[in-house]
Amino acid sequence: MKFILYCRKSTESEDRQMLSLDSQEKELLALALKANLNIVKVFRESKSAKEPGRPVFNEMIKMISSGKADGILCWKIDRLSRNPVDGGQIQWLLQNEKIKCIQTFEKTFLPSDNVLLMSIEQGMASQYIRDLSSNIKRGNRAKLEKGDWPNRAPFGYLNDKANRTIAIHPVNSKYVIRAFELYSTGSHSFKEISNILYTEGLRAESGKKFYSGNIHRFIDNPFYSGLMQRDGKLYIGNHMPLISKELFDKVQNILHNKNRPRSQTHFFPLRGFLVCESCGCSLTAALKKGHHYYYCTNSKGVCTEHKTYMRENTLYPMVASLFEKLDIDENLIEILYQSAKEKLGLDEDYVKSILSTLKMSLEALTAKESRLVDTFLDRQISKEIYDRKMLEVQNERVLVSKQIQEIQEKHSKQISTLEPTKEIFLRASRARKDFLKANDEEKREIIEIIVWNLSFKNQSMAQHQFKSPYSILSKVPKDSDFQTMRRV
Ligand SMILES: [Zn+2]
Repeated sequence: MKFILYCRKSTESEDRQMLSLDSQEKELLALALKANLNIVKVFRESKSAKEPGRPVFNEMIKMISSGKADGILCWKIDRLSRNPVDGGQIQWLLQNEKIKCIQTFEKTFLPSDNVLLMSIEQGMASQYIRDLSSNIKRGNRAKLEKGDWPNRAPFGYLNDKANRTIAIHPVNSKYVIRAFELYSTGSHSFKEISNILYTEGLRAESGKKFYSGNIHRFIDNPFYSGLMQRDGKLYIGNHMPLISKELFDKVQNILHNKNRPRSQTHFFPLRGFLVCESCGCSLTAALKKGHHYYYCTNSKGVCTEHKTYMRENTLYPMVASLFEKLDIDENLIEILYQSAKEKLGLDEDYVKSILSTLKMSLEALTAKESRLVDTFLDRQISKEIYDRKMLEVQNERVLVSKQIQEIQEKHSKQISTLEPTKEIFLRASRARKDFLKANDEEKREIIEIIVWNLSFKNQSMAQHQFKSPYSILSKVPKDSDFQTMRRV
């Protein structure tokens, strides 16, 4: 048999995962070699197969029809065709045994097989399903925008099938309201609320208890306050709210301000930064008899010091004393900073006052927007007026935000060259004091930024290195003058 090797890849999304033309050809040539297939021609085509009329494909068909080849080698059967016209052509050539074999990487198709047509049908069907589901999504969005809920009513409501609306469930709605009221006191967990409502007669459809997860879902669903949430977007619903927006907001605050329980294991701020000068192993930390100690892990097994424990509170002053080398007079830093700013012609106060005015008008807009929603939810204004007013507010917000953004960008571009330098100077000058009064997490942060390779021998500090740019600052003579500073 004389085989044509056919490779195809389009730039369309359906083919994004497909092997490149080079890879297809390489893999298939290896396969041909292994199966001892006689390749008479290689065709490569960069084109989608959704529509009939591919030039290279047509050339291949011509070659087969005239008997110059009678087999096709391709990566997958969908490389040949994704439309019924081309598919039918291949199928016809197969039936007439002009094509005696189609070999893909995984399968062999012979004249007796109808697999090709089937695969094309499948391809078209899956496209149809994709279109359908995006049509449904579009339809749902349109409904939501009109204020209608496109799905099953949440617990506490009913789907009124006759009027195609959402109605309040006379009994269940009471439990939802009760759940919100209980939670808003801030003194009940979801589990407790689930128990209370159970004793008050609340049952799920199955007749069982409503678990805490269900209660959580009520509390989190803005539907009960008259809004509808879909894919993170809020819509105003036509249904009657069960609770006020005020109660919903209050409950959300409680829900999201809960403190998370903290992990129990102790955090050792210096762990990972300290090295044993004697053997080069890193020091680890442990809690012993109520105190925190650092000691050599002796992981090389040769250390003479690994029985030496250093108390955490003797280590801290040693580390802090390092930072004395970075102490630069803060007044001097400020003078340097101000003079640099003057050179650039920046007037801080002026920018600040413009920004605060603009931010106040943004806040006013937010208040206006929320008043508008409340007024609408209370049925005091019509949807038309609401929409129009809302659009005005939103447009104005865009304008103000844009203005703020522009001013900030311009200002920060100017300041961005100065600010970090000043930060570094200030951080350095305060490092010692900051370190001593910092909590554990902050201590680690300071160390991480400023130093590395702290090594210890005989319970005292042996070596250390400052990270850049602090290494430069540490070399500035302690009582240096303005000129020296600027040179640094
Ligand atoms: Zn050691």
